Amino acid sequence: MSILDETHAPERRSFVATANGHPDFPIQNLPIGIFSRDGGERRSGIAIGDAIFDIGLALQSGLFEGEARMAAEAAAAPELNAYLALGAPARVALRRRVSALLAVDCPEQSQVEACLHPSSDCAMHLPARIGDYTDFYVGIHHATHVGRLFRPDSPLLPNYKHVPIGYHGRASSILASGTAIRRPNGQTKAADADAPTYGPSRRLDYELEIGVFIGPGNSLGEPIAIGDAAEHIAGFCLLNDWSARDIQAWEYQPLGPFLAKNFASTISPWVVSPEALAPFRIAQTPRAEGDPQPLPYLFDEKDQRQGAFDLELEALLVTEALSQKGLPPHRLALSNTQHMYWTVAQMIAHHASGGCNLQPGDLLGSGTISGPDLASAGSLLEATEGGKSPIRLASGEERLFLEDGDEIIFTARARREGYVTIGFGACRAKVLPARQ
Ligand code: CA
Repeated sequence: MSILDETHAPERRSFVATANGHPDFPIQNLPIGIFSRDGGERRSGIAIGDAIFDIGLALQSGLFEGEARMAAEAAAAPELNAYLALGAPARVALRRRVSALLAVDCPEQSQVEACLHPSSDCAMHLPARIGDYTDFYVGIHHATHVGRLFRPDSPLLPNYKHVPIGYHGRASSILASGTAIRRPNGQTKAADADAPTYGPSRRLDYELEIGVFIGPGNSLGEPIAIGDAAEHIAGFCLLNDWSARDIQAWEYQPLGPFLAKNFASTISPWVVSPEALAPFRIAQTPRAEGDPQPLPYLFDEKDQRQGAFDLELEALLVTEALSQKGLPPHRLALSNTQHMYWTVAQMIAHHASGGCNLQPGDLLGSGTISGPDLASAGSLLEATEGGKSPIRLASGEERLFLEDGDEIIFTARARREGYVTIGFGACRAKVLPARQ
């Protein structure tokens, strides 16, 4: 865990007026991302209120020195892999300097102002070249709800409380927030049909997850000790693991998800650092009475004490009818990362435990994070009880699964008494009709 410093002080305010009280990007957050302006080159920047602080311009203006300068030089690129690889000391140096530059009473304010772009003029892109993507399954309520649809008496498989379950996903189809996704065509077979057919998925779903960017990697064959795992985390984002349930149901045995999940995954574009989230660290939710203890390679006292975090997650649905009638988005779920059965450090330690090498810019997904009840269900599969009980919207529409034109929006909020609330920005995408 990072030590709290002046960058977390609640009294620190920015001369960028929109940052003060901003739901996502006050000066205490400072997430990093990749943007472009007017279709120009990709550049790195830091979100501050409704503006983006351009790291490359700030470097040219001589606003950095020492370790912060080295970090800014690595970050001033069209993708952040080299910067993510540097790890915590470089991140902290850059954070402290950028925080000072954007604070009220900064002596270099006029120079800093020349490095700011209005966010509304910028397009956001993927923050890094994602070499590999692995999606876990650590949301225990999600695993229980989904398992119950198939196995009412024993929803969790016997391995669940021993192994952080995951599958290797597809990195090439990960998209930045705002890019529409296309409904996949695929092979499905209705339960009462004799043979499968090929066509548009009719059970398109979302999954509410967080993503974790890997910072420093590990060498092939060298596991990551659980006590060191946090040092490999470069930051966090929101992740929508779009899922075609009908394709999934037909293809998933015996090897797990394949085309049901490889057509698109959407992430929020800002990398929120472990330092920004440090005030919101909490103890891992204690395991239920009778649950097994993690094996030693997955257990660390410090990780149990502060390896979880308190992050509120919200999933919203916008339909064309809701927009036309001027109605607000429909809240599908309000959940929290406290419902993760395994910590991010446990996910990392497990992933590398057999010798697999993680690399800077790799993305790990948490798996769907649902709470215990329907109001916190992080997928439609759960919220509609397997596609049986429709969700009713204020527009008079109903949904079992997503329709063309629907948009899913995720947001995240970290709050704690005595600290300034921070968010992640939106993870949003609209569903386009399947290709004919
Ligand atoms: Ca998933």
